[in-house]
Amino acid sequence: MSGPVLELVDLVKHFGTGSSAVRAVDGVSLTLSPGEVVGLVGESGSGKTTLGRCVVRLVPVTSGQVVMRGVDIAGLPRRKLRGLRRHFNIVFQDPSSSLNPRMTVADIVCEPLRLHRIADSAGRRARLTELLDQVGLRPEVARRYPHELSGGQRQRVSLARALSAGPALLVADEPTSALDVSVQASVLNLIARLQADLGFACLFITHDLAAVEFLAQRIAVMYLGKLVEVAERAELFATPRHPYTQALLSAAPIPDPRLQRTRQRIVLSGDVPSPVHPPPGCRFHTRCPVAEIRCRTEEPPLRPVGPDGALVACHLVTDAGLGPRLVQPAVV
Ligand code: SF4
Repeated sequence: MSGPVLELVDLVKHFGTGSSAVRAVDGVSLTLSPGEVVGLVGESGSGKTTLGRCVVRLVPVTSGQVVMRGVDIAGLPRRKLRGLRRHFNIVFQDPSSSLNPRMTVADIVCEPLRLHRIADSAGRRARLTELLDQVGLRPEVARRYPHELSGGQRQRVSLARALSAGPALLVADEPTSALDVSVQASVLNLIARLQADLGFACLFITHDLAAVEFLAQRIAVMYLGKLVEVAERAELFATPRHPYTQALLSAAPIPDPRLQRTRQRIVLSGDVPSPVHPPPGCRFHTRCPVAEIRCRTEEPPLRPVGPDGALVACHLVTDAGLGPRLVQPAVV
């Protein structure tokens, strides 16, 4: 297909109404091209998981558009949405709670095929064998139940299920963070290999910057319900422009003890403000080390800066893409 797989237009998700509403996602616009991996990063409470759930319509959207392969699914009735669900799917953080404990692996993986009437029973069996092989599981795993598997195996089953109907978009919501450190890398490698082989687009949600650096082509940084920076991976890591992005990168571990010891860390003061009463103006101004008076009242739009198409929401970043430099990036 031509055109984007996913286009979010001014997406808003509030929980509750009036002055007590939790403004989890507050006007996010983002596009994913076919086969593109976009990493969505931010601290806990930034709204990134809610955004992922809005994309696959697990939660109703308050306003805005979720255009999936040209169709706005934001307000689509359930009956019409059902037919489109084969084109997108989600993998959750904790495979233990996302897999039905009363179903065998075979039933779990084949469920989307049955729901979307994709193949007859012989075709489903063949697809099951193929999928288990693709995610690195032996055929006999098909007869087991989730509690008989390790955490890494369960996440492989989740991936097989999510990909069984051949979606154009996979939302991966912290897919490795509930796993033992020893299996995180193998699951991350598996996602990278599946994405390269099958060519689906992926919105990869994580707080792990090393994971997005490994997997994503483009990175979107979220703070308190809004995107503050979107840029190509190499550009974002070499030249983070938004002060929040710079703070996030300065806190990420570097696999070189000498650099880790000598690099400057930006320590943000205070906690992330409540999404019930987000600060006026720039939402980051209460923690920003270089905030100006106008930042308290004027909200900076997410706008294109520099020659490479980066988008940044900060008053201090110029159209040429120059902005405050809080620390020098560590050269690895
Ligand atoms: Fe900091 Fe102001 Fe830029 Fe917001 S707009 S990130 S408060 S300098």
